[in-house]
Amino acid sequence: MKKLEYDVVVVGGRVGGSTASLFASKSDVDVLMIEKRQEIGSPVQCAEGVTYNTFETLEIKPSERYIRSRIKGAYINAPDGRRIKYDGDIAEGMVIDRKIFDKELAIESAKAGTDIMVKTTAKDLIIKDQKVCGVIAKHLGETIEISADVVIAADGIESNMARLAGIETHHNPDLICSCAQYEMVGMDVDPGVLEFYFGEKIAPGGYLWIFPKGDGIANVGVGIRSSVETAINYLNKYVSDLDATPVELNIGGVPVSGPIDKTYTDGFLVVGDAAGQVDPITGGGIHPTISCARIAGEIAAEAVQNNDYSSEFLKSYHKKWRDEIGETLDQSVKYRRMADKLNDNDMNALAEFIETQDLEAISKISVLKFVGKHPNLMKLLTELL
Ligand SMILES: Cc1cc2nc3c(=O)[nH]c(=O)nc-3n(C[C@H](O)[C@H](O)[C@H](O)COP(=O)(O)OP(=O)(O)OC[C@H]3O[C@@H](n4cnc5c(N)ncnc54)[C@H](O)[C@@H]3O)c2cc1C
Repeated sequence: MKKLEYDVVVVGGRVGGSTASLFASKSDVDVLMIEKRQEIGSPVQCAEGVTYNTFETLEIKPSERYIRSRIKGAYINAPDGRRIKYDGDIAEGMVIDRKIFDKELAIESAKAGTDIMVKTTAKDLIIKDQKVCGVIAKHLGETIEISADVVIAADGIESNMARLAGIETHHNPDLICSCAQYEMVGMDVDPGVLEFYFGEKIAPGGYLWIFPKGDGIANVGVGIRSSVETAINYLNKYVSDLDATPVELNIGGVPVSGPIDKTYTDGFLVVGDAAGQVDPITGGGIHPTISCARIAGEIAAEAVQNNDYSSEFLKSYHKKWRDEIGETLDQSVKYRRMADKLNDNDMNALAEFIETQDLEAISKISVLKFVGKHPNLMKLLTELL
């Protein structure tokens, strides 16, 4: 059997893997990243919306090669058709071409010294005396034993690396948003505005999005939970009324359970979707993944330099990412649980309230008066407080 030796092996070559390997390689350790697909970044499983701070975390200037549109606003569309302007952070970003971005990120990592093997699937972990010591991979029919001091799993929602390492990954099927998306041509949309649509008929337990990519092109997708119908059925229903045509279909799942409880063990770290590091309200995982993967790469390199791969040392990865984004993700889990209880009437009532109020000058009394008329919302507000 072919044998390779590295300080760090990263499994998965999209944003989590490339970021972890980039920051480990920057710290001057020997890194190999393996990706099971033949091309990094393809197929896309993403609406491709990113916030500007993603590039600050990466310390990379965003490139015109992958920026498709700059976003200056967003609209939330309630089930009854009311349109509410939304100014949160997601409305200050860009829609990118992830096929180009993901590959360029891998190229950055390679330039920093990472070796990359595509069409190489991690099949198993090598575990000795309860420490992860590498992976068994398959490349074009050949089995390869890759020894490493630290393995970083960035293998996405379908991850089995973390489970093999004995880490509990609680992706309960009810807490996975199943998504379908077309890239559509001929869309009559504002190139700087994101659109979100809510409602039982359009996207039960989730939402429908339209993310513009310029030149009349847009990603039109649906994410749903708890439905007997599939996401693609909801998507097809919606696009059948559009005078536009698809050029690409993407299917994928988003974990909305919140992060897993433990993201390290002896010789092993897990990042990104595989660790549930995704905002459970928006489903946005690019920036949380990159933030955590950067920390994982840096800590893995420190472990190599200190010759200490123990769980005790590697838990500083868990502590650091928790300090950076743990509270925000926990808060989002709480809001997602509340949002799960909203029905169409509640959403319409909320939209009407927001539409008719000056939100900057809103008083406690007007909120209480409003929820007083809507028992379900009153119950939710009480739970929140
Ligand atoms: C439909 C959809 C829309 C989304 N829209 C957005 C959005 O607009 N904005 C946003 O911020 N987030 C969005 N997300 C979430 C975002 O795409 C993910 O959070 C992010 O890509 C996670 O990155 P990752 O590197 O952890 O995992 P992934 O992107 O899933 O990458 C995992 C990689 O590991 C590889 N792999 C898996 N198993 C193995 C193995 N055994 N051996 C080798 N390689 C392996 C896979 O081939 C893949 O390339 C969306 C997700 C979906 C599904």
